[in-house]
Order: sequence, then structure tokens, then C-alpha cells
Amino acid sequence: MSPLPEAYEKLRARGKDLALLGATTGLLSWDQETLLPPKGHSFRAEQSSLLAGISHRLATHTDIARWLDECESTSLPPHSPEAAAIARWRHDYHRATRIPAELVEENELAIGLSRTAWVEARKNSHFPTFAPHLEKLLSLSRQMADLWGYADQPYDALLEGYEPGWLTRDVTALFAKLRPRLVAIAEKAFALPQPPSRKTLRGHYPRADQEKFLQLLLPKIGFDINAGRLDSSTHPFCSGLGPGDTRMTTRYDENDFMVSLYGVLHEAGHGLYDQGLPESQLGTPLGQAASLGIHESQSRLWENRIGRSRSFWKSWWPDFTRAFTDLTGHKHEDCWRASNAVERSFIRVEADEVTYDLHILLRFELETQLLKGDLSVHDLPAAWNELFEKLLGLKVPDDARGCLQDIHWSLGGFGYFPTYTLGNLTSSQLWQAANRDIPTLPTSVENRDYQPLLRWLREKVHSHGRRYPAAELVQRATGKPLDPEAHLKVLESKVQELSQ
Ligand code: ZN
Repeated sequence: MSPLPEAYEKLRARGKDLALLGATTGLLSWDQETLLPPKGHSFRAEQSSLLAGISHRLATHTDIARWLDECESTSLPPHSPEAAAIARWRHDYHRATRIPAELVEENELAIGLSRTAWVEARKNSHFPTFAPHLEKLLSLSRQMADLWGYADQPYDALLEGYEPGWLTRDVTALFAKLRPRLVAIAEKAFALPQPPSRKTLRGHYPRADQEKFLQLLLPKIGFDINAGRLDSSTHPFCSGLGPGDTRMTTRYDENDFMVSLYGVLHEAGHGLYDQGLPESQLGTPLGQAASLGIHESQSRLWENRIGRSRSFWKSWWPDFTRAFTDLTGHKHEDCWRASNAVERSFIRVEADEVTYDLHILLRFELETQLLKGDLSVHDLPAAWNELFEKLLGLKVPDDARGCLQDIHWSLGGFGYFPTYTLGNLTSSQLWQAANRDIPTLPTSVENRDYQPLLRWLREKVHSHGRRYPAAELVQRATGKPLDPEAHLKVLESKVQELSQ
């Protein structure tokens, strides 16, 4: 292949600077969630706002337009990875230059203040503390959406920031198809003669024992513990800062070891993706994740398809019983059932696989209405509670367990929620394809050999970075476009299995 144009190397160098700045911001956020003293948050908001402004100016400099023009005028093979990188750079540049740096800084500062107010509001279950901040962030998001431009409605422009290629109407259509099927599966699970429950396993599981177990599990599934860390935070997350530094968190409940277990399996799925992105491509889109939905598909696959399988419980059972004395007298089958309990619950992050997407459907419906102006901030709690009862059959007792539970809106993350459901659907479709491609996969998983699965994911997903749009990546990896059937089938057969 002919050498890459000089402008490509310049774009790569600028991209690397942006990646370094992004990692610095990421580290500040990690610190904010894990260590920052409570009084340090507004000072931190100023730091993050400054860095966001600097990044934005670097990402929107006119040099980039010149380098892009130069690259686009050279004859790179149209299907080469570099041609794809240039197309992604163009997309990002176009999007970034729509928004003035002042608006980026204002938004970042508003987010910092809003986050503090949200923590307070949630603690006291007092929506009015958070309402003016939500109002402000919605107005800033609407301004940005107008500047970005959109097909039908402002939400389209925001969705594009998280899941490029999806329009609100596509998500609406997909969710309309999912809703009755999910409700039917959930009803079937609720009606099981002996519905499994995590409560049967409640005991005393000291945090130190849980930590020890998790440090055993992580390298076994392929996570490089010399290139990452596990800490604790209120909301588990994973932050792939860059080569050799993937930070994960989980939370601990000494009565229920599955809280940290599934937190870690989930975040480690994200972490494995981050660790699998090609290091040599740092600074180019080929070294970045394809989309948030694809990211979530990785976490869900490890959490649910591996971690909630019978073979996981069976193969890890000797280690579980060694780690936790309170499991004495239980069987691995009890844990498998408990880990798959389907229950009506208020909190999304604790929801089981079947009801989880109903929580997402609710948020999507409400945030699209908020953005359009069809729902006022003032009316949000009531609208939440009404829809929640319709979808999940529970009366929301307070806003802390209702519309104040998630951090996303306090960070201005409107358009983020659908990526969770897209991730769930994708995870099952990838799992189905991996099983088709690797006939020995069930045996290797039974033997706690996760390498064949990880190798498959590296080859089909991780190694491509952002070369392909998410839809194309799914098509290439699985041989068909994203389709909810694989996931619905997984859920249906799980409920069927539990009934036996
Ligand atoms: Zn996740």
C-alpha cells in the first residue's frame, strides 16, 4: 500500500493529544467517583470544564479541516481501515465544530453543579432540589441539538452522540416490538410456581472475602490485572483510560455477594473490550470503541451469558464454597437459580435480565418527551410513577427510587439509555454467533477456559475499533443485521429452564 499522506500522521498526532486529554478527564472523573472529598466537587467541576474547553478547541481547530481535505483528496483504497478512520474523523470534526467552545464549557460547568445537586436530591428524595438543574441541562442539550441539526426531532441529534446511525423513530419502532414480548416473558417468570429469589442466599459475606474471590476471577476470564484496577464506588463503572490503564469499580453488600460479583463481571466485560482495542491505533478512530451499544454488548455477554449460566456456577462452585463459608449447605443449582431470579423492582441497576429493558423503555419514552417539550420537568416524577406502574406493576414510593435514581440525566446524558437495550440485544446475537462459530464453546466454558470466547470477541469486535459503524460490525460478526429475536429467545428459554 502507498504510504499514508503526511496529513494522516498529523491527524493521528492530534488524535493522540485528544486521547491523552480525554484520559486525563477520565481519571478526574474516576477520582470523583472513588476518592474525591465531598467539598471538592465544585472545584473539580472547574477543572473538568477547563479541560473540556481545551479539548474542544483542539478538536475543532481549522488545521484539522485542512488535514482532512488533504487526506480526502488522496487515493486511499475506499475500504481500507485508514479510509474508515478519515470518515470517522470527518464525522467527529463536523459534529464538534457545530458547537462553540463557550457552550461546551457552560455545559460542563452546569453538569458539575447538577451532579452535586442530584446527589443531594437523591439522598433526601427531594426532586425540587434537582429540578432547576435538569431544566438547565435540557435547555443546553436542546441548544446543542439545534446546532448539530436533526432529522425529525432534537433527540435524534443527541442519540447520534452515543449510538451513531440510530434515529429516534427506529428506537421507537424497535421498543414497540420489544415491549409486549418482554412483558409476556416477565409475566411468565412472575407466575413460576417456585420463583427463585436472591433472598434465599442472604448471609454474611465479608467484603475482604469477596475482594479475594474477585481477584481470582478477573485474570481467569482474561482481564489483565497488571493493566487495570478494581476499586469501589456507589455506581459501578469502567473507564478505559488508555493502554495499560483500565479502571473498574464495583460495590459491596456484605449480605449479598452477587452484588459485587455481577458488578465485576459486567464491568470486566467493558474492561476486556478496552484492553482489546489495538494499542497501535491510539489517537485514531481505529483505536476507539465502535459505540456505546457495542460496549454494553460486551459487558452483558460476560455478565449474563457467562456469569448467569449453569456451567459458570458449576465450574466455580469449589472456589465459591472455599471463599464464602455462608454458602455451606447450598448447592450450585441454588445459586444459579437465585442469580436468574426475575422480580419486579424499582432500581434499574439491580434489575434482572428480563425486566431490565422495561426500565430502559420507560426512560426512553420520558426523555424523548422532555426533549420535545411534551413533558415538563415539573411533571416528570408523576409521569415516571404512572408509566412505571403500567410497565412494572409497582407503585413508586419515593423519587429516590423513581426518577432520581440514575446519574445520567444529572450529567446531561439524554440519549444514552437506549444504548443499554441495544447492548443487551447485541450481546445475545453475538453469543449465538460465537456458539455457531466455536462448536466446543460450551465445553471450554464448562472447563473455565474462556480464551476461545475472548479470542473470538477480539477478532470479531475488539480489534476493529471504530472501523465499522455498529450496525455493520454486528452484521459482519454475526452474519445478520441486529434483530431482537436472539435475545428474546435467550430470555424465553431461561424462564423455561427455571420452570423445570
Ligand atoms: Zn455497562
